[in-house]
This record gives sequence, structure tokens and C-alpha cells, in this order.
Amino acid sequence: MDFKSVKDSEVFISVLMQPSHSNFGGKIHGGYILSLMDQIAFACASKFSGAYCVTASVDTVDFRNPIEIGELVTMKASINYVGRSSMVVGIRVESENIQNGFVKHCNSSYFTMVAKDETGNTTTVPGLILNSEIDLRRFVKSIRRIEMKKAHREDYQALDVSTPESLEMLSQYNVQVNLPQDNE
Ligand code: GDP
Repeated sequence: MDFKSVKDSEVFISVLMQPSHSNFGGKIHGGYILSLMDQIAFACASKFSGAYCVTASVDTVDFRNPIEIGELVTMKASINYVGRSSMVVGIRVESENIQNGFVKHCNSSYFTMVAKDETGNTTTVPGLILNSEIDLRRFVKSIRRIEMKKAHREDYQALDVSTPESLEMLSQYNVQVNLPQDNE
């Protein structure tokens, strides 16, 4: 079986933020950053697997700090985890003020990518060689994230939202429940 190291998967990009990517408040659009992240996730997963990949899911993109026009955004990506045909790509996004050198952490996110063959079917990816404590930690963190997502899915499936307790709980939220009556 074919194995590759995390190092073999590493990809970096740096992009200077242009005024054309700003929103009405003068900050860079979150959607533009997401699109760059999707591109680097695709590049990282395709490079590692040797196959073209598709995005299956994205785990938590919290925009911690806004990005300003003229800043240099750097994205660093590597494979955190591999399954049979899936890979988790971790991406760290940082933005640098090029005049004073100040670097801020903008977000860290985890994209699940799936490798496809020429006919569009899923295809197997190489195994991952973990060469450092940090590679090991990221792999184990991914397993935990996958398990937690599965538990959440099961929780949601078992959820009965129309119980009196559930409706009572909603009274603490900024919502008005206005369901049609049975005879409507
Ligand atoms: P972590 O996932 O808990 O280690 O959180 P970080 O914010 O440090 O990094 C997020 C992800 O970005 C990591 O899981 C890596 O996949 C990727 N990453 C972070 N630092 C580097 C780096 O120096 N090089 C590369 N290629 N990827 C990095």
C-alpha cells in the first residue's frame, strides 16, 4: 500500500488583498476568503492523492479577525487525516499588515475532500505517515471531530422538536412560533 507523509501534502498561498474584494464596510468579503480556502483545499488534497477531488464538507469557519484591503493573506494547508477515499485538509489563514509586519490569525478550518477517478467514482487515497507529535495530534483531533459529527447527526435524528418542553425552551430565544393548527 502507498503511504505519503504530511510534508508531501503541504501547500501555501499568499495573496495581496485588492479593493475589488472588499465589502461596503471596506473589509475583505468572507466569501472571497472562503473561495481561496476551497482552492487551496482542492490543491492540497489533489496533490496528496494524485486524483482530482471534490469538497464534501467544511468544518467551522469562524472569522476571528477582519481582513483589510492591502494586507497580505497567507494560507497554509496540509493533510490532517485520511480515510479510504476522503481526506481532511487543515488550513490556517493569517493576514499580515505589510507596512508594520503585524500578523493576525484569521481562521483555522478543516475541509473534507473526496478523491474521484476519471469516471467520477470515489478512489482510494494513500495512507498518511505521521512524522511528528503535531501530525499525530492533528490526526487524532480529526478522528474526534468525525466522531462528534456522527454523534450530532444521531442526536438530531432522535430529536422531537414539538414537545411542550421544546416549545417552552424556545421562549428564551428571539423567535415566534406560529405553527398552523391541525384543522387549518
Ligand atoms: P491545529 O489544526 O490545531 O494545529 O490549528 P492551527 O491553527 O495551527 O492550524 C490549522 C491547520 O492549518 C493545521 O491543521 C494544518 O493542516 C495547517 N497548518 C498550520 N500550520 C501550517 C504550516 O506551517 N504549514 C502547512 N503546510 N500547514 C499548516
